[in-house]
Amino acid sequence: MPSLRVRAYNVRFGDAILVTVPDRDPASGEVTTRHLLIDVGNVLTGSGGQDEVFAPVIDDVLEQLDGRPLDLYVMTHEHMDHVQGLLWAKEKRGLEIRATHAWLTASAEEGYYERHPEAKKQKLAFDDAYDRIALHLAAADEAPSPALQAMMLNNNPSSTANCVAHLRTVGAATAYVSRATDPAATHPFREARFELWGPEEDTSAYYGRFRPMGLGTMAAAGGGAAGGDDAEAAAAEPLPPPGVDAGAFYNLVAWRRRGIFDNVRMIDRAANDTSVVFVLEWRGWRLLFPGDAEERAWKEMAKRGLLAPVHFLKVGHHGSHNGTPEGELLDAILPPGPAGGAAAPDGRPRSALVSTHEGTYNGVPHGDTLDEIGRRCRVVRIGAADDPPFTDLRFADPDDPD
Ligand SMILES: [Zn+2]
Repeated sequence: MPSLRVRAYNVRFGDAILVTVPDRDPASGEVTTRHLLIDVGNVLTGSGGQDEVFAPVIDDVLEQLDGRPLDLYVMTHEHMDHVQGLLWAKEKRGLEIRATHAWLTASAEEGYYERHPEAKKQKLAFDDAYDRIALHLAAADEAPSPALQAMMLNNNPSSTANCVAHLRTVGAATAYVSRATDPAATHPFREARFELWGPEEDTSAYYGRFRPMGLGTMAAAGGGAAGGDDAEAAAAEPLPPPGVDAGAFYNLVAWRRRGIFDNVRMIDRAANDTSVVFVLEWRGWRLLFPGDAEERAWKEMAKRGLLAPVHFLKVGHHGSHNGTPEGELLDAILPPGPAGGAAAPDGRPRSALVSTHEGTYNGVPHGDTLDEIGRRCRVVRIGAADDPPFTDLRFADPDDPD
């Protein structure tokens, strides 16, 4: 029976997904096997960030391609855990993956910010905040926690810039996509269809605002850290200066640490929200790949009336609390269905994929979030040190018994 295959590679804390599609030409009936690769990257520190995992991924992708280029490469957003793998493979192993077509998120296009002054203003403010926090952490007495360090490195604008510069060259034809893009002319698939749900063309929708906090740093106006800011605040405490009330001093220290962590989360979240979000539809199956889109992006998609039931969900942001919508929004994509909730309203089985590595970001993956998805889907996890190099999910054509 012909089937579409989603192959999720074990890159620890990151994403690398190869989708292989038997794509039938509606005119000639001829079937071409087409390959779509999404991202390839992982974080820069800890056991979740090992670079050695990329070599077998690239080897396998090249083997699957058998000398041909990819039909489509998709870079969802500009974070190291999604962008660093292909440049690493080229520089360290001399292995290069090419594609006939590529999609990069709209704001990764050179000159994008010159055309979007509001987004530019906010991006510059965020980059400035990043630099100030980096300076502050470099000058601080104690090292930042592993989670804060991982998030800082993942958001480092200069290291992502090199990777994105390479990814702009992967496709013979590159489209910088947003919800406003008509996908039809941007890929070679004949049968499989694509819907673009995000990002918004103008990314200023995704930036929160900073409130000056004094002490050389800033505080986020909105809270909502990924979890773990308490752990951040509980790190090694400095001693209050003589004559200073200890309680007030420690409050200030905790408040300042929380401010730093919240600000880095805010920088992280804004880039996640620029993720390319797309649905791939093939022979009645609907597969949703939302990159690392977080709450604000999900709300934007809901507001636009885009959310609709799917059979497969690539769980966003490695299973964080903020990466999966709740309530009505989750119901819109994974409505409670028959068969104890594990099937879609049309009776087809549903599945979700989580690529994550414990201990990289505090509170990620988020247990309650995965439990909630698990009430609606079979959940497949990859990314632990002892997981296999990849795992496959198959979606068979129900009308073709061959
Ligand atoms: Zn990510």
